[in-house]
Amino acid sequence: AQAKYKRLRKLPSTSKDGVHVRLNINAGLLVDMPHLAESGAAGVGLFRTELQFMVAEKLPSTTEQQMLYEQVLQGAGEAPVTFRTLDIGGDKVLPYMERVEEENPALGWRAIRIALDRPALLRAQMRALLRAAAGRSLRVMFPMVATVDEFLRARALVARERAYLKRHGHAVPAEVRLGVMVEVPSLLFQLEEICAEADFISVGSNDLMQFLFAADRENRHVAGRFDPLGPAALRALRHIAHTAARHNCPATVCGEMSGRPLEAMTLVGLGFRALSMPPASVGPVKAMLLALDVAPLTAFLDEALRCDGQLETLRPRLEAFAEAN
Ligand code: PEP
Ligand code: MG
Repeated sequence: AQAKYKRLRKLPSTSKDGVHVRLNINAGLLVDMPHLAESGAAGVGLFRTELQFMVAEKLPSTTEQQMLYEQVLQGAGEAPVTFRTLDIGGDKVLPYMERVEEENPALGWRAIRIALDRPALLRAQMRALLRAAAGRSLRVMFPMVATVDEFLRARALVARERAYLKRHGHAVPAEVRLGVMVEVPSLLFQLEEICAEADFISVGSNDLMQFLFAADRENRHVAGRFDPLGPAALRALRHIAHTAARHNCPATVCGEMSGRPLEAMTLVGLGFRALSMPPASVGPVKAMLLALDVAPLTAFLDEALRCDGQLETLRPRLEAFAEAN
């Protein structure tokens, strides 16, 4: 199978009926970067910056952060990299940082919530990113955004950092694109505003499903209970894809479901044209895509999700569609 996927590496990731879908990889450390070329992916759709912080014994300095980001960008060459700002808190604790006891850490003080309350942390990280990407394009997205205002505040902080660097004679990126992770369900009801404000959105389906179904993503008693190919999840995902398209806001999915061929097929059918996944999934997902006719799948999904009485998961019907394809 590996040899088969290797042969696909150079082929464009385009469906049988000509729909192009960007396939990106998820990464988090320097050792992940060679996977970009090995997999033939278009870029890094999610770079989890917290990994550097989690493997360190003390808070990485701005210079250390900058050095890592420079090496990541260098490793990617021309390919775009989307950095996600620190997604800590919840279950991702840093031993050297203040620790708050929480009843529900997944719903607690984490990610952008910490970043906005302790702006020195986000400022240092943004400074490192802006300097690392001097002269080229920088793409950054924020995790666990629950309100439009949180994104606007983070964006203002980035603008201030950029102005600060310029004022002090530093080179800055040629362009900065700022995105929002859609992984808290409240954003489903603010998509118009988010898509109008953000340069792109990226669906964190791991957390979005966890919060949509109120089912802990780490708890095996509930893990298999709710299907991301059920009507509620698919309608949510389709709403995201459609709203983003209406606003010309590029939308991608970077949760684990992107890396499973049947789920990836479904996401393409719903309208997503970019997916980010573990490197080992790029081959299998590309093989699926090369054999896929998107138009009939989209028609099938539109019909199945329209309204009346879709009670069950669409998984068996989607499997049948994949078989027949
Ligand atoms: C997600 O929630 O789907 C995601 C991509 O982020 P993480 O898995 O790091 O929470
Ligand atoms: Mg997440």
